[in-house]
Amino acid sequence: MPSPIVTQACSGCGELKPLSRDYFGSTRTGRFQRRCRTCVAAQTRAYDLANPEKAAQRSQKRQKRLAAAGPGPSELELAWLRVCQKDRCGYCDQPLNGSGHLDHITPLAKGGRNAIENLAFACFQCNAEKHAKTAAEYLVWRIKVDKPLCGWVFQGRPSGLAV
Ligand SMILES: [Zn+2]
Ligand SMILES: [Zn+2]
Repeated sequence: MPSPIVTQACSGCGELKPLSRDYFGSTRTGRFQRRCRTCVAAQTRAYDLANPEKAAQRSQKRQKRLAAAGPGPSELELAWLRVCQKDRCGYCDQPLNGSGHLDHITPLAKGGRNAIENLAFACFQCNAEKHAKTAAEYLVWRIKVDKPLCGWVFQGRPSGLAV
């Protein structure tokens, strides 16, 4: 029997949409946002149109940050990282089965670099929960909510990862 599709009414446009990451973004705590992606994007666009200077400043800031973060990892480095992580989340150790998100251990917004030394594959849940936290801040948060610290980022780098 096919499972019923869970929906959520967007608090912006009121439309019933499937409760999935395709339609709703995630909050800092890994839950679904109340407003659909379309509404959130429209609001950002409207804000940028109303505040062109702020929008330009924001994109300048982003460009500067990207430049400071340096070049990204190569495909080979990423493949190697996944092997070293044994294809498991770097924070909770759940199997990723070839998927997962690439997480900046120290976020770019906090001066982290884009290089392989600062990257970890993470499951969606951990990636969303960690959000803009550093690994240390995320560790403190996990202890507070009583989540295990069995991923390699907390336990030390996996052998073979030459850093
Ligand atoms: Zn909406
Ligand atoms: Zn995880």
